[in-house]
Amino acid sequence: QAKAAGQGGFSLYSPDAHERARQRVRLVSDLREALEHNRLELAWQPQFGLDNRRVTGFEALARWQRDDGRPISPAEFIPLAEQSGLIAQLGRWVIDTATAEAKALLQARPELEQARFALNLSPYQLDDSLPKILTDGLAAAGLPAGALEVEITESALFADQERVTETLNAIGSTGVRLAVDDFGTGYSNIARLKLLPIHRLKLDRSLITDLEHDHSDREIVRALLAMAEALGLDVVAEGVETQAQATFLAQAGCPQAQGYLYARPQPLEPLLTWLRG
Ligand code: C2E
Ligand code: MG
Ligand code: MG
Ligand code: MG
Repeated sequence: QAKAAGQGGFSLYSPDAHERARQRVRLVSDLREALEHNRLELAWQPQFGLDNRRVTGFEALARWQRDDGRPISPAEFIPLAEQSGLIAQLGRWVIDTATAEAKALLQARPELEQARFALNLSPYQLDDSLPKILTDGLAAAGLPAGALEVEITESALFADQERVTETLNAIGSTGVRLAVDDFGTGYSNIARLKLLPIHRLKLDRSLITDLEHDHSDREIVRALLAMAEALGLDVVAEGVETQAQATFLAQAGCPQAQGYLYARPQPLEPLLTWLRG
């Protein structure tokens, strides 16, 4: 804590701001080191068919524990990686690791052949080099392109549209699938959705949380499901935590769900055990 600086002294810096900046620098250098020593991990969260509760796919989520054992949330270290230029390296690590682990999972559970393996992309990764990084990862793992899905947030779709469109079209032509993450939180330009090679929408957790109590959320979700159907898009609801939410979604015709009600994200080994159970 930055308390000492305040005691009877006079500091040029606000001690809090100074301490925060110091901690940030430390965190960036710890993250760089963790990447270099391969100390990040992926946790996989299964996705389910709402009609039969069968596993339809998995999403890879990056995990990082500092040396003191303290987990840092990706909501904290992903933006840090983006701001410090580490995101290219981190993003490549995610692609290479996710494809290799997906292959290992399929070898252990061949009956999941139809499952789709999703990973998250940062908008900072959307450039010319990305399609080849993806196809290289797939080739090294021996995984077909159709088994892989990349998630891009709705808001990322609408920044720097020309570059994003070009990159997404190039990814689409590799056979890798595209999902729009956190859908329903940004401003949806339906005309633009139609122009991109998108396969799936992920309804944001904020739309799901209050389904039971909020009539307008229920109507919004119904409208989004109708829109997705009209556009021929697959849908998965994120952050499903209660049976009441799942029941509403199933009745409204949502095909798939993901959330703590079904399973938490977990590393490959415990996931394999869970799948066996
Ligand atoms: P996201 O891609 O929208 O992932 C969903 C988040 O919701 C995950 O948080 C997941 O653990 C959490 N979650 C899943 N089911 C439930 C539920 O039922 N209730 C609640 N309350 N939460 C649930 P996580 O793992 O902390 O990741 C946060 C965000 O960080 C992700 O949101 C994604 O935007 C980003 N992220 C994570 N891994 C990566 C990565 O490898 N690359 C990039 N670029 N971003 C990542
Ligand atoms: Mg995601
Ligand atoms: Mg999301
Ligand atoms: Mg999110």
